[in-house]
Amino acid sequence: MVKKDKNIVLNLAKLSKYFGQRYDLIQAAGGNSSIKLNKKMFIKSSGYSLAELSISNGYSKVNNQILVDYLSKVKNKKITRYEEDRSFKILKNSLSDGGNPSIETLAHSILKKYTIHLHPIAFNMITVQKNSNLKINKIFKREIDSNQIYYIEYKTPGVALAKEIFNKLNGKPPKNNECCFILENHGIITSASSINKLISFTELITQKAEKSLNVNFERYKKTTKISNELGIAGFKNMSVLYSEDLIINDFLKKFNFTKINEPLNPDSLLYCGLSLMNSNGNLKRSLEEYKYKYRTYPRVIKIKDKIYFVAENILKAKEIEDVFKSHLYLYSEVSQKRPLSKDDIKRLESYNPQKNRLRFWFDYEGKK
Ligand SMILES: [Zn+2]
Repeated sequence: MVKKDKNIVLNLAKLSKYFGQRYDLIQAAGGNSSIKLNKKMFIKSSGYSLAELSISNGYSKVNNQILVDYLSKVKNKKITRYEEDRSFKILKNSLSDGGNPSIETLAHSILKKYTIHLHPIAFNMITVQKNSNLKINKIFKREIDSNQIYYIEYKTPGVALAKEIFNKLNGKPPKNNECCFILENHGIITSASSINKLISFTELITQKAEKSLNVNFERYKKTTKISNELGIAGFKNMSVLYSEDLIINDFLKKFNFTKINEPLNPDSLLYCGLSLMNSNGNLKRSLEEYKYKYRTYPRVIKIKDKIYFVAENILKAKEIEDVFKSHLYLYSEVSQKRPLSKDDIKRLESYNPQKNRLRFWFDYEGKK
C-alpha cells in the first residue's frame, strides 16, 4: 500500500474507533465511516462493525467520481427495484480494493472529506416521532437556516437515500465546514473538512438533541474520557465499554473489590488481566500506579461504583465483560479459593506472545 493510502486508512480506523465504542452513538455493526482523497474514497466495508476497521481489515477503496456521476444521472429518476440493482453494479464497478463497500457509499460520495453515519439514540428518539420534522426544525432552527443541518424524510438506505441527499445539496458538495443530515426513522450522517470538526460537531448536535429530550447519556460519553486518559498514560487507541450488566453490577455491590482480584483460571488471566484496577476517581493517578506495577493497561476498571472494560476494540471489550462475569460467579462461592500460582501465570503469559492479534488465547498461527 502506498504511504498516502496507509495514512488515510489509519485515520479512518481512528475515526471509526472513536465513534464505534460509543453506545449512545452507534450499536452493533451499524453505521459507517469514510475519508476522501482526490477522486478516491475509503469507506467501511459492508458486514464489518466500525470497531473492526483496521489497516488490514474492514475497508474498501472506491473511485468516487463514478458514484457522483451516477447520482447526477438518477437525480430525477424514480428509484425502482431495477435501479437499486443497477446501483449495486455501479458500486461494484467503482471498487478498486477491499470487500463490498457499505450500502451508504453513494450517500457519502458528494459529502465532505470526512464522513460518519451513526444511529444516535437521542436523535432516533426524536426521528421516530410522528411530528419529528417539526421538532427537529425547532431544536436546530439556527443550524437549518444556515444549511448546517438538513432534515431527510425516510428513504430506503442505498441509492434512494443518496439521491435525496444529492438533491438537497443541488448536486454540489456542502459549503459549510461541517454539516449533518438527520435521517427520519434512521439516524444521522455528519460530514466535515477535518476529523476534529467531525467529532466536535457530532458531539455538539447530539448533546443538543439529548438536552431537548432531557436525557443524560454521560455514562456512555465517559468511555471516551477514559479512553483519552489511557492514551495519555501511553496506551493509545483503546476502546472502553461501560458495563450495564445487572449480574455484574449486583455482584459488585456485595464484593470487596480487592478480594476478588486474583485470576482463578487461564481465561480470567488473559481477558481480565493479572489484576483489576480500582480507582477512587483520580483516574490519571490510578493508571500511573497500575502501569508502574504491571507494565500494561488494566482490562477491568472500577471507578467508584461503575465498571468499565478496556480492549483494542469494543467487541473484545464485550468479551472481557463476559469472562469477568464468570470470574465473579467463581468468587461468589464462599469457600477459600486456589488462585493460579505465579509459575502458572508466568507460563500462560509466555504462551502466546502475539495473543493480542489472535481471537482466543490458545489460538495459534499454523505453519505458513
Ligand atoms: Zn444506518
